[in-house]
Amino acid sequence: MLVYTPDSYPKTLFRDGARALFLDRDGVINTEITYLYRIEDFEFIDGIFTLCRTAAERNYRIIVVTNQSGIARGYYNENDLAKLTKWMLEEFTGRGIRISAVYACPHLVNADLKTYRRDCPGRKPNPGMLLRAQKDFKLDLAESIFIGDKICDMEAGLRAGIGSLLLFSDTASVPGDLRDKVRIISSLKEAEKFLK
Ligand SMILES: [Mg+2]
Repeated sequence: MLVYTPDSYPKTLFRDGARALFLDRDGVINTEITYLYRIEDFEFIDGIFTLCRTAAERNYRIIVVTNQSGIARGYYNENDLAKLTKWMLEEFTGRGIRISAVYACPHLVNADLKTYRRDCPGRKPNPGMLLRAQKDFKLDLAESIFIGDKICDMEAGLRAGIGSLLLFSDTASVPGDLRDKVRIISSLKEAEKFLK
């Protein structure tokens, strides 16, 4: 699991037991482009900065959890992801928003690149990245929110015990076992209603 944390943030900003707003990256923070790794292709989705600002004001940590199998597939490398992530974090910081950490899973079970060939507990729908964040930041997952655009995000959130699961999609259909646990939102503005 790759973890990116801005060095400049004080570590003691939040108490133990803080809640988090977890964000998937592609399709929530930025418009989904398959195997995106270039800064010039990264387009922020409307409402993401306002949502994060509101979350921060209400004492949510903001944490990104993203599957990046493009690394395992050899489409881009860790260096590309590190560069893009650093840039993305600076875009948030420049708007006064702190992202506590970005967790990325570069693995894939049948990857072309042997180094990354792994059935990883971090790769969503597995809950590993969320559980690692819980440990790193001592989060209260039951009071936390996860916004994703895919069913695998919701599945990961459910397995980790995240209290509110928001599916940001007009096309995904929610399977029966998730139906009473997932709320569908059609804009990031709508997600603000779920911030307590
Ligand atoms: Mg996504």
